[in-house]
Parts: sequence; C-alpha cells; structure tokens
Amino acid sequence: MSNTTSMKTDPVKESREDSLEANLDRLRKRSLPLTPNMVTPNRPLIFDEETCTKCNLCIEACPMDVLVPNPVKNGLPLIMFPDECWYCGCCEMHCPWYEDGAIRINFPVMQRVRWKRKESGEHFRVGMKNPPPPNTREPA
Ligand code: SF4
Ligand code: SF4
Repeated sequence: MSNTTSMKTDPVKESREDSLEANLDRLRKRSLPLTPNMVTPNRPLIFDEETCTKCNLCIEACPMDVLVPNPVKNGLPLIMFPDECWYCGCCEMHCPWYEDGAIRINFPVMQRVRWKRKESGEHFRVGMKNPPPPNTREPA
C-alpha cells in the first residue's frame, strides 16, 4: 500500500501555520515595547531600622526558619529564605515592638483584601491612603 495518504497535507494545520506566521509578522512590524517582569524574590517582611531593637525574637518565632540573625552586630534580622514564608504572622506577633512598626508583613498584592464599590466600580485595598468611609448600612 502506498503511503500517499500520510503524505497528504493537512489544510487545517497549514492554515493555522499561515495565520501564526501572519500574526508574528504583524507583531514584528509593530515592534511592541514588551518587557518581561523582572524575576525577583519575595520581600515578605519589612523591618524598621529605627524601632527594631534587633532582639531576634522574630527569628525564634518563625516556624519556617525564614530568618537568620545578622552576623553584623546590631544588624536587622536577615530574610534568608523569602520564598518559604507562609505569611503566618508569628514573627509579627512575637515582636515586642510590633505596635511601633518594628516589623510588618508585606503581603503579596494578590493576597491583600480588597473590595469594590458597586455604584462606581472603584476598587479599594486595605492600607491604601484614602480608603472610603466604612459602610454603615444595615445588612439586608
Ligand atoms: S510570616 Fe511566618 S513564615 Fe513568614 S517570616 Fe514571619 S513567622 Fe516566618
Ligand atoms: S523585628 Fe521585633 S522581634 Fe524582630 S528583631 Fe526587631 S524588635 Fe526583635
């Protein structure tokens, strides 16, 4: 049996390839200014140099051993394994100077609570500069 069947061209595949090539051509001509995001590690915690007393209690509290003591005397704890942070908050809770802002969890944007105002479509996030006043309407 001849293999003429297997040699046949596939019109659907051909048309897909043509259209892909045409799209690529269009993109090349437009020279889109696309820049990929930089690959950067997380920064799960932000320390405040002024209020942190470098007591290292947060290091002891972390269940994931994300932090290590700074070998430099009186240095802030080092975030050694940022990608392993659970954002559990143990470090914050154990910090005696948390209220003064010595340590703050820097939640990834996608994990931050946000809400949307139905009427205007505006989005709000916790921690933004001018949050709307709280909703005082009685629940339906
Ligand atoms: S949030 Fe939890 S896992 Fe992340 S550094 Fe603090 S204690 Fe460790
Ligand atoms: S962040 Fe708080 S617990 Fe950690 S070293 Fe500074 S003062 Fe101590």
